[in-house]
Amino acid sequence: MTDIIIIGAGCAGLTAAIYAQRAGLSTILLEENFYGGQIAISNEIENYPAIPSITGPELAQQIYGQAESLGAQIRFETVTQAELSANPKVVTTNAGRYEAKTVIVANGVKRRKLGCPGEEAFTGRGVSYCATCDGAFFRGKDVAIVGGGNTALEDALFLSNVCRTVILIHRRDVFRGEKALADRVKQRENIKIQYDSTVSEIRGESAVSSVLIKNTKTGAQQDLPVSAVFVAIGLIPENEIFSRQLPLDESGYFIAGEDCKTPLGGVFVAGDCRSKLLRQIITAASDGAVAGYQAAAYVNGL
Ligand SMILES: Cc1cc2nc3c(=O)[nH]c(=O)nc-3n(C[C@H](O)[C@H](O)[C@H](O)COP(=O)(O)OP(=O)(O)OC[C@H]3O[C@@H](n4cnc5c(N)ncnc54)[C@H](O)[C@@H]3O)c2cc1C
Repeated sequence: MTDIIIIGAGCAGLTAAIYAQRAGLSTILLEENFYGGQIAISNEIENYPAIPSITGPELAQQIYGQAESLGAQIRFETVTQAELSANPKVVTTNAGRYEAKTVIVANGVKRRKLGCPGEEAFTGRGVSYCATCDGAFFRGKDVAIVGGGNTALEDALFLSNVCRTVILIHRRDVFRGEKALADRVKQRENIKIQYDSTVSEIRGESAVSSVLIKNTKTGAQQDLPVSAVFVAIGLIPENEIFSRQLPLDESGYFIAGEDCKTPLGGVFVAGDCRSKLLRQIITAASDGAVAGYQAAAYVNGL
């Protein structure tokens, strides 16, 4: 039996491992893809304090290296089931079964995709799922943003401060997001709204050069020259396997406060999977630190 099982080796999980190992506890991280999670697929990161610029894979490597050098073990396995109210807690993967005194769930989120031609090919080369992260790379350029909720509206406003023109592509004629936010978007001179429109294709050679949109009412197509397409059509938490044991909010995120505690003793949630205001590297690291600290305190108190 290990002291702590951490599900997910993204920024939150790796940071939790650093804190747990430094507290003298044995830690196993279970990761279904690659360490770093979303960081590993980020092009360039420019908003982490004291690191003016670093590529995602480099940052992922550094956090992983730090956790590993402290003794954390990582196993590349998919968690399929967990008995979190049991003592010890039991976590089952596609390759085995683990017992632990405490569990931190840090399984992140996935970005909802458009599913159109060009999206996959230009990801990191003009297609982005994070305007806060990548907007500054398109300073003074014309860009498009797809979506109609609060994130898309906020991102459109954010992008309009750095880009020359922002084309907001929305599949309906009314925004899902807050009216006050939508009003601000409509008043912003350099935001042009394409209502009733969906993205048919993202085009380019080595990077994005245009986006082909289709009017859902008339069927008319337009090829709009842009340097980037930001996709803000939602995040998908993947917390279903825990839903009978841990409370989820209406969007499927774990309900937990800044202390990362859940109603189950010895079970903590950290990072993007948790209900929170801002999903970024720094907030994932913060949650990882809190959850690692709490897990260590729980084990020491047993
Ligand atoms: C393209 C892109 C660019 C970004 N750029 C920036 C930026 O510049 N600055 C910034 O601050 N933020 C940025 N972000 C957001 C930031 O990366 C995330 O907020 C942060 O990394 C979340 O960390 P996390 O550990 O909570 O989740 P994740 O990074 O999502 O990690 C969760 C991990 O859990 C694993 N996992 C999930 N389910 C299972 C399972 N059942 N079994 C085993 N493992 C599982 C996943 O494979 C993943 O590795 C960006 C995000 C993206 C997608």
